[in-house]
Amino acid sequence: MAAYNIIDHEYDVVVVGAGGAGLRATFGMVQHGLKTACITKVFPTRSHTVAAQGGVGAALGNMAEDNWVWHMYDTVKGADWLGDQDAIEYMCREAIPAVHELEHYGVPFSRTPEGKIYQRPFGGHMRNFGEAPVQRACAAADRTGHAILHTLYQQSLKHKAEFFVEYFALDLMMDESGCRGVVALDMATGTIHRFKGHQTVMATGGYGRSYFSCTSAHTCTGDGNAMVARAGLPLQDMEFVQFHPTGVYGAGVLITEGARGEGGYLTNSHGERFMERYAPTAKDLASRDVVSRAMTMEIRDGQGIGPEKDHILLHLEHLGAEVLHQRLPGITETAKVFAGVDATKEPIPVLPTVHYNMGGIPTNYMAEAISPLPGKPDNVIPGLMAIGEAASVSVHGANRLGTNSLLDLVVFGRAAALRAKDLIKKGTPHRPLSKNAADLALSRLDRIRNASGSLTTAAIRKNMQRTMQNDAAVFRTSKTLKEGMDKMGQIAGSLRDLKVSDRSLIFNTDLIEALELENLMACALATIVGGEARHESRGAHAHEDFPNRDDENWMKHTLAWIADDWKVKLDYRPVHTYTLTNDVKYIPPKARVY
Ligand SMILES: Cc1cc2nc3c(=O)[nH]c(=O)nc-3n(C[C@H](O)[C@H](O)[C@H](O)COP(=O)(O)OP(=O)(O)OC[C@H]3O[C@@H](n4cnc5c(N)ncnc54)[C@H](O)[C@@H]3O)c2cc1C
Repeated sequence: MAAYNIIDHEYDVVVVGAGGAGLRATFGMVQHGLKTACITKVFPTRSHTVAAQGGVGAALGNMAEDNWVWHMYDTVKGADWLGDQDAIEYMCREAIPAVHELEHYGVPFSRTPEGKIYQRPFGGHMRNFGEAPVQRACAAADRTGHAILHTLYQQSLKHKAEFFVEYFALDLMMDESGCRGVVALDMATGTIHRFKGHQTVMATGGYGRSYFSCTSAHTCTGDGNAMVARAGLPLQDMEFVQFHPTGVYGAGVLITEGARGEGGYLTNSHGERFMERYAPTAKDLASRDVVSRAMTMEIRDGQGIGPEKDHILLHLEHLGAEVLHQRLPGITETAKVFAGVDATKEPIPVLPTVHYNMGGIPTNYMAEAISPLPGKPDNVIPGLMAIGEAASVSVHGANRLGTNSLLDLVVFGRAAALRAKDLIKKGTPHRPLSKNAADLALSRLDRIRNASGSLTTAAIRKNMQRTMQNDAAVFRTSKTLKEGMDKMGQIAGSLRDLKVSDRSLIFNTDLIEALELENLMACALATIVGGEARHESRGAHAHEDFPNRDDENWMKHTLAWIADDWKVKLDYRPVHTYTLTNDVKYIPPKARVY
């Protein structure tokens, strides 16, 4: 192994990630007097959280009567009874103080005429146990994520949190006592940093980029999930991936459902409005999963558009320039910038697009990572926490409701800080690390940096992304999943033939992309293997051969362990069907009991 320049650091807490989750945790830790480092591979305010538009859900009741118990019911139901009800109760109850805190920290929420936080309606959020829609999404115009991220960054700076920006976390440092910290590469200087922490918090976001088309940033590569997997710990419910029907082909940028609401429609390579066949009544306005599945089936049947027959067209041109400029100006601009088309004259190429990862690192509602032992399904891993899209708490279960992710970030970012305050006694000294604590990270770095095979990162990545898009997307059958699983096994194996051309350590993007590819591969394998095994349809996992939810056999969380040879081992743990307080009872499937 090459000699690396290693620099050691000691902190009470090390947070990996500076999106909404990471920043809320960092700032909370510092507020509680804990010495905290926040490591991030991109500048904090460039994290994907900045792209969230719609809002953050909380039953404030500013627009009409609302109740956190109704929010909880909607979330349990939206999660298709795979969410842990203690965690969901905690999130929906704590939503109210968490959003008020954000307001006091300076998030510039839009206002009602009387000066309260403005709230808008959002899919699945209802009043009185599903009776009628309620306005629950607290919004800062259509830039809520942007507003929250910037405010949390400013608060973190005010409280003197220490940031390590453009540091790429490579792997966890584990020993028999649990997690001891993380090893990171300073991308600017090529130095290696060992960060010791009494707690290490993974806040590394989702892994949308394991698919060909996703709405998330290029940086969403599941690094934290993969680090946890390499530490021999399981990932949970990875088969549940949320899709949106209309992402711009190639770019993945979102075209809102409102475009079809205004009269837009989809066609295949014959110019046919195929949605009439799949959903004769609702047609192009059928629910997100139905439209996404129909589009995928057209493409699979060879009726896609373009040389690779791999996308669909969205027509808006018949609506006329005036209507488009008035009602869909943002979409018209998006089409021009990202697809190079003038939507007033020609159709927009679109593709069902990955939008959110429900699965991730399993945790309890206090953000502590768990890995089961015999008879102890909720066994805590000392020293390790996970929050945000990287975690599976699990509040989103099999499907996430809109606005519940921004909420998850702030509630569990805050919960992590509260828990760390209780766990870490001020001034606790660090035990010395073993000599080989950084070995896993460095041997991997060395192996990839010197990889001299024949396949580029881009080539292997494209194989992976296409396979996941075709075989583990919205349309899932035993056949596609099995074929996809075999293909993915081979593609992961092809990493042995990886070629990295740049051997330097200074801003080596070739190397970083290769490291990210390995991380994506681990997430992709857990997704497709977990999906193949789950013989039911639940939430975002719609299995054509098993169209019904099967609570008797499948109301359980999937756990996936990924071995060094990329073999995936599965096991399961029970869903928490109990709540934390007596304020609300367990919500059984298809029932309302209070
Ligand atoms: C287009 C879009 C719109 C959305 N709209 C909404 C909405 O309106 N409401 C809602 O509730 N949700 C929405 N979501 C979902 C929500 O925005 C995300 O789930 C959430 O922002 C994820 O936040 P996070 O803090 O977990 O991760 P991210 O914001 O993705 O941040 C991840 C952080 O981890 C760091 N990181 C990752 N890997 C490493 C590494 N190896 N080393 C060091 N640092 C690393 C990155 O630098 C980054 O700082 C939307 C998502 C998208 C993509």
